[in-house]
Amino acid sequence: MIERRKTRQIDVGGVKIGGDAPVVVQSMTSTKTHDLEATLEQINRLQEAGCEIVRVAVPHQEDVEALSEIVNKSPIPVIADIHFAPKYAFLSMESGVHAVRINPGNIGKEEVVREIVQEAKSRGIAIRIGVNSGSLEKDLLEKYGYPCAEALTESALRWSEKFESWGFHNFKVSIKGSNVLENVKANLEFAKRTDIPLHIGITEAGMGNKGIIKSSVGIGILLHMGIGDTVRVSLTDDPVVEVETAYEILRSLGLRNRGVEIIACPTCGRIEVDLERVVKEVESKLRGVKKPLKVAVMGCVVNAIGEAREADIGLACGRGFAWLFKDGKPIRKVEESEMAEELLKEVEKLKD
Ligand code: SF4
Repeated sequence: MIERRKTRQIDVGGVKIGGDAPVVVQSMTSTKTHDLEATLEQINRLQEAGCEIVRVAVPHQEDVEALSEIVNKSPIPVIADIHFAPKYAFLSMESGVHAVRINPGNIGKEEVVREIVQEAKSRGIAIRIGVNSGSLEKDLLEKYGYPCAEALTESALRWSEKFESWGFHNFKVSIKGSNVLENVKANLEFAKRTDIPLHIGITEAGMGNKGIIKSSVGIGILLHMGIGDTVRVSLTDDPVVEVETAYEILRSLGLRNRGVEIIACPTCGRIEVDLERVVKEVESKLRGVKKPLKVAVMGCVVNAIGEAREADIGLACGRGFAWLFKDGKPIRKVEESEMAEELLKEVEKLKD
């Protein structure tokens, strides 16, 4: 069991972050925010996949104008992502967003940051302080020479102290760099010194497997140390993949359990069925299942009986056939051509 860092709890549109709340899964839309149809369609798909809070970019006036409809129609809380233009922070709050994310380092004068904080306070809106290697304050870059972990931590502590001195506590912090080790170090140092909830992730992790691996390593290390109250996996991909990846990371550490866990053998020279085809078919058909279920698809008898028995549903394959297991017991023999279909029939009976 992972012992999680004790943090204070904040509230983002009814979703609790920190304290005894589970690690919250977030994502960010990749649509043009002002394209209402596309943005809401993506938010709905994200929510279906398990996303609990969504962030939308607000770079232009037309985006801020779309916000109130997005907030009204979104099934999950909405965070406005603001860079460089403080006026959009104020207008977003007016539109009813549940939180704003700002990088104080690129907002400009401290007085303006303070005004945003006062506005959030008076409206009961949360703030995420973003500290990114790409938007560090000039004086810290001069002091450290480059956006190292120490610079990131100092920036995060600096702004947290200011927010608190202004009487504002409904905020979380994200410290993100694209270098995994710097990222871990910066978050760890910050976590040692405060009880402020942390939003964790590896920024600009990249595409496909590389991005997923980099994020999993960085986020996984922090979570294993008990650090991280909410998580976003940043990928150059459909954001639904970010959410699915986040849940797999959390599941592998025993922190969240959602949807189907597929245990499949890696296959080897003993295999006598087209296991890859069966696994792919099962995986794609079970994508939308929310109930936590363990499904084992094993290539031969070597580990199959044991794994299939541990699962809610399992297939233990032989030459051209498989034993279908349910709750640890073989229930019938199925032909290779019907394996996926028969397995799915049993999952159907369990999933609601
Ligand atoms: S379960 Fe059988 S087929 Fe799969 S990897 Fe193990 S020995 Fe090979």
